Amino acid sequence: MRRTIVFLLFGFLFLGLKAPETITVVIDAGHGGKDPGHLSHSKSHKSEKEITLLISNYLGGYIEKYLKNVTVVYTREDDTFLSLDERVELANSRNADYFISIHCNGNPEKTVHGTESHVHDFTAKKSYNFAKDIEQQFADRAGRNSRGVKNNDDRAHSIQVLKFTKMTSVLVECGFLTNSNEANYLNTKHGQEILASAIFRAFRGAVERDFPEVNIKEIEVKEDDEEKEYTIQLMSSKTWIDTESAEFKKLNMEVTRVELNTTKAYKYIYYAGTFTTLTEAKEVLVKVKNKGYRDAMVVPKKD
Ligand SMILES: [Zn+2]
Repeated sequence: MRRTIVFLLFGFLFLGLKAPETITVVIDAGHGGKDPGHLSHSKSHKSEKEITLLISNYLGGYIEKYLKNVTVVYTREDDTFLSLDERVELANSRNADYFISIHCNGNPEKTVHGTESHVHDFTAKKSYNFAKDIEQQFADRAGRNSRGVKNNDDRAHSIQVLKFTKMTSVLVECGFLTNSNEANYLNTKHGQEILASAIFRAFRGAVERDFPEVNIKEIEVKEDDEEKEYTIQLMSSKTWIDTESAEFKKLNMEVTRVELNTTKAYKYIYYAGTFTTLTEAKEVLVKVKNKGYRDAMVVPKKD
């Protein structure tokens, strides 16, 4: 038995193979530090380097939370500057299986909008299929205008982080900051989370396809869960209650009131908070119940 283990370990070392039970993904938030990347028309908007960091962190968070046997490595986790060489070097030295670079686009023509996923060339099938899946997710599930998968020829230039990384590599352009609608979307937490969850689903599919022997399923995610929002239904009342009143102040949460179009006695329902995951909503529900709202429950949020 022991001999087998030793043999396997040496086998992996000699053959340069990694233990098949682990997958490493490098998530690269584009730009950073002295390099802000593209800028929006609006001064109140974030720059590309800030948005790419947020989307990268959401994406990494989903992978860490929902997939087992996958290690996430970030090229940067704050506003630091890294050269393109350093990003490539990090991915290659970690012997990563996937490299995902997150960017936002820009164009002098302000009407240009949509997402793009870039690969070095179309012959790298794993990269191409992954990029195609990301664009599919953007179009079908995130409702974005997909401009498709682009390669070296489409761009007429190489992208350093795609050309020199040795693993499955995709550079994702999440939208144009020079288009006002898209800049608005990219600046919302909602938009950033939707884009990250679209990339997450494509990534999960790519790993399942490329590494069928690795079990990455830790938690079953229902297909719609990631885009759904939840709230806590606190109580109902026969009469109108001010949401700023002492009744709700103790919660220290934003409370909203919905008037029902009904002839029943209970005309008003009160909700507290917005949550992007069921787990988070359930955690807060415990606290809400402890503050006296015994009938409180988690419900899907309606817009
Ligand atoms: Zn960029």
